[in-house]
Amino acid sequence: MTIPVFDCRMCGHCCQGQGGIVASASELERLAAFMDISVEEFRDRYTQAQGKKTVLRCGEDGFCVFFDAEKACTVHPAKPDVCRAWPFFRGNLADAVSWELAQDYCPGIVAASGHAEFARQGIAYVLDNGLAKSGREDEANALRIADLTEES
Ligand code: SF4
Ligand code: SF4
Repeated sequence: MTIPVFDCRMCGHCCQGQGGIVASASELERLAAFMDISVEEFRDRYTQAQGKKTVLRCGEDGFCVFFDAEKACTVHPAKPDVCRAWPFFRGNLADAVSWELAQDYCPGIVAASGHAEFARQGIAYVLDNGLAKSGREDEANALRIADLTEES
């Protein structure tokens, strides 16, 4: 039986943070298609520039504009890769201390599973879902983490 390492509680902690949710051009296309509007309209209504990056807007409450307290993410099938990848970020996969600290922020991380199992399932998830090619967690790094995890 597979030990669960993550069970999202839909608390919304990871949907807060002005300017933290970066969306690439392909992710903007995916989101616009999901909402059945043009990319230009999506950009105008739901994003803002942050340096050279495009980020999703947040409301006055500090939550992403797509966060709904009852339904959680209203664009779930099309959400950006950074949202799909959490909590399986490289730091949490590679480092048990980061993983422990992340538990304070994300109640969905199952501490009882242990870090090695979290890393094993997380790396598989990242690779299986094509998230290793996002530029944030490339495949080579993910595989190196797998090697390190097996050695430890
Ligand atoms: S912080 Fe964790 S438990 Fe809360 S919504 Fe985000 S992923 Fe789910
Ligand atoms: S797109 Fe969805 S998952 Fe990502 S921050 Fe916004 S509400 Fe949260």
